[in-house]
Amino acid sequence: MGILKLRATRIVGLTLVGISLVLAVTLFIYGRANSAHLPNIVLITIDTVRADHLSTYGHDNRTTPTISKLAANGVIFKQAFSQAPWTLPSMASLHTSLYPSEHNAISATTKLTDEVETLAESLSNLGYYTIGLASHHFVGTRFGMDQGFDVFDESQILGHNGVTSGALTNLATKYLNNREQKPFFLWVHYFDPHVTYVRHPEYKFASGYEGQFSDEIDVEALDQALINRQLTHEDVDYIRAVYDEELAYTDSWIRTLLDRIAKVSAMKNTLTVLTSDHGEYFMERGRFLHGKDVYNELVHVPLIISGAIDTNLHGRTVDQPVEILSIPRTILEIVSDEAHIFRGENLLSLAESDPGNRFIFTEGLFAWADSFRKKAVIYKDWKLIYNFDDNSYELYNLSSDWSEQLDRWDEENDEVAAIKRLLKQSLDQYPNTEGLSAPEIQLNEKTVEHLRSLGYL
Ligand SMILES: [Zn+2]
Repeated sequence: MGILKLRATRIVGLTLVGISLVLAVTLFIYGRANSAHLPNIVLITIDTVRADHLSTYGHDNRTTPTISKLAANGVIFKQAFSQAPWTLPSMASLHTSLYPSEHNAISATTKLTDEVETLAESLSNLGYYTIGLASHHFVGTRFGMDQGFDVFDESQILGHNGVTSGALTNLATKYLNNREQKPFFLWVHYFDPHVTYVRHPEYKFASGYEGQFSDEIDVEALDQALINRQLTHEDVDYIRAVYDEELAYTDSWIRTLLDRIAKVSAMKNTLTVLTSDHGEYFMERGRFLHGKDVYNELVHVPLIISGAIDTNLHGRTVDQPVEILSIPRTILEIVSDEAHIFRGENLLSLAESDPGNRFIFTEGLFAWADSFRKKAVIYKDWKLIYNFDDNSYELYNLSSDWSEQLDRWDEENDEVAAIKRLLKQSLDQYPNTEGLSAPEIQLNEKTVEHLRSLGYL
């Protein structure tokens, strides 16, 4: 009820809340009456996936053949951006279509408020049986991410030591086989590409290395190498290659997941959306991991919508920038003509024709302190970043400088002056509301230790 409630108190008090309740009840009744015709929905999110490490986004290693196949039967978005560079704010945006500064689940001691309407809640109201499988604290119950799920299993939140793709896939199978006979919404959050990077030697991307790192590269090993300034090109290549093996391993379990889903729901009746919450650094800017910046290494993520969509769209590519917070609106508008409250774009209509004139926002927030705050806007080929800490701007042209090396902010010519004006104006207006209040939470020592081992301290 978040957006409605927020506006209602401002505009006409309880009237809108009343209308929205009637709407919700109507949707509920409508959903129960008509749910038999709804397609099944699978949302696959993989933690920590840089788009440029996927085969289908042009990576050299053959990391993700299953995802390539999914893209061949769907629409691939070449420039999808997450709304934050770490899990909690990013995934809260994905499930609510609110920007981080609107839902305000933006630190490791806040949770997503119950005030929001989530994708799962809307689908549940439409008559879906909803299953959520979490493998990371930040997508778990403690952080309010279980809202709207009939079944929510977080037994695979194992911290940095777990290899969980197989167990998650088996849990998905178990819950699908035991589900109520309604259309289903299954959300699986895979986690293996997140640090600790573990070798899966069958893929051989990292074979033959004889340097300082072992078969398991954890946060401490990366920190130590940075502190000791003992990193060679071979080391960094090896780290990337082990990460690639994690991607390939996860991709193979996604193949198993899709094969098993196909046994209970034909592909043409199954809408599949695949994306990630953020990317990862591999020594670009001298850093590893993720969490503070809004550069492309951390916010450019894969996005594929596949299966139960118009077959004319299969194999289609959208080249212009999009936001992953558009996912709820897109799913709702594919499965139903009913009104909904989600913002963003209908991503499939962009696959039909794309004016490409959107402003894309992303926000940098550090999990443990109110510093390193940044916000950025992308418009066509340009990206403007505002750094709260020192009140400075950076401007990049993404078509000629995707890796954001050449800051154009101080350049003085008409083209740059015009784009600066336009982007600065749009950043000034972001976000459009003062935001919801996110409840504070207490973390126990074990959770803090888990998060530390995942690089969040
Ligand atoms: Zn993450």
